[in-house]
Amino acid sequence: VIEVKHLNKSFGTHEVLKDIDFSVSKGEVVCIIGSSGSGKSTLLRCINLLETPSGGEIIYKGENILDAKHDIYKYRTKLGMVFQQFNLFNNHDVLSNCTVGQIKVLKRSKKEAEEVAMKYLKIVGMDSFINAKPKQLSGGQKQRVAIARALSMEPDVILFDEPTSALDPEMVGEVLKVMKELADTGLTMLVVTHEMGFAKEVSDRVVFMDKGVIAEEGSPDQIFNNPVQERTREFLKRTL
Ligand code: ATP
Ligand code: MG
Repeated sequence: VIEVKHLNKSFGTHEVLKDIDFSVSKGEVVCIIGSSGSGKSTLLRCINLLETPSGGEIIYKGENILDAKHDIYKYRTKLGMVFQQFNLFNNHDVLSNCTVGQIKVLKRSKKEAEEVAMKYLKIVGMDSFINAKPKQLSGGQKQRVAIARALSMEPDVILFDEPTSALDPEMVGEVLKVMKELADTGLTMLVVTHEMGFAKEVSDRVVFMDKGVIAEEGSPDQIFNNPVQERTREFLKRTL
């Protein structure tokens, strides 16, 4: 679906991403792991153009979307994003959170948008909360609404940036369960996570980032049971 080539990103003189080559295929679940500050969020933010890469290419449907002529708005509608802090619209109720983007960006009718939203709210188990405001929901419920909102745009891939890191421990499970179910339906997912159990169990491929480079990638079995790189072993020893 997306291929990143020689991607670089610097903030001032600080080189945060160094020559990243990376891709996600249709139906694949890729987990990105690595220490704090290794560049995981920056990579996601470059892929969805919340940050402008300093160099390299992002290939989508055979074209480099960093070419000036490219319609980045259209591209961005094809990517869903789920953030650590939910980023729901607090003055909108649950249903409206899942319909505004569809109506404004995809130009769907209110009726169609609500039907689509209901379909995904059911999938995440939040269809009985459609009139609630975000502040009435628990963290786990908010994150499930955020996932339904992303799904309602019917993107080609959903990017998750530590979707469970802001949750109380007892709510992590319900969000991971929804994400696992989505993975099982063949949704293309790119997930930055500290949940090693999830990465091990659910991902097709694990990418380990260290100091702005992809230090190692492979199947969960390879990364967790037979890492080749010393720094991967060190990282896993610290986290497991
Ligand atoms: P964490 O696990 O803590 O979320 P991360 O792997 O997601 O870490 P990034 O957030 O991508 O790491 O940050 C990588 C580096 O880039 C850090 O050193 C950070 O300070 C720096 N950085 C990120 N965003 C900016 C910014 N907007 N301006 C300046 N420096 C930034
Ligand atoms: Mg981060």
